[in-house]
Amino acid sequence: MWVSKGNIDNYMSYHRFDTNITELKTYFNSVIDWVSSVFVDVESEMRGLNWGELYECFHTNAYSPNEVHTKLQALYADFFVKNRKGVFEYILGGCVDTKLLDIRIFDEVTKRSVYGRQTLDAQARGVSNCPLCALGTDSNKARIYKLKEMDADHVTAWSNGGATDISNCTMLCATHNRAKGNK
Ligand SMILES: [Zn+2]
Repeated sequence: MWVSKGNIDNYMSYHRFDTNITELKTYFNSVIDWVSSVFVDVESEMRGLNWGELYECFHTNAYSPNEVHTKLQALYADFFVKNRKGVFEYILGGCVDTKLLDIRIFDEVTKRSVYGRQTLDAQARGVSNCPLCALGTDSNKARIYKLKEMDADHVTAWSNGGATDISNCTMLCATHNRAKGNK
């Protein structure tokens, strides 16, 4: 169950409740109904979140459960989202506060710079600017991709402690990036 005892304790101390159990039950039913109406999926990361506080902040907003579902799935599939517990508050808050996700991404300047360097080097050698395509034997072996056809990848995965900076950045074609990200 994603509404834990901890949530109730928090709520009680927050409101200095005179332990009116009926009032407490009604309140928690409202919280549970609200969460169930917004989130159609139940994820293990929902456990232990302060739903009482999230309810207080966001329950007057209107959400489309389908949209929330789509956003949640996309964030769960995103290789660079480090804090999965943060996705719920992030979505409820209108997908603005990326700090909640503790996301690890390369900035545009880094991507452009690495792309430029890789592409010049690849053109000089007559191979693809995707280093993985360049190793292959198919028609993409010498293909020069546009910047928008490539994505930044960590040479050492950030899950293995690789930094999100230019020294650990390589640009891969979308196909190879996806293949690596799913590992
Ligand atoms: Zn490639």
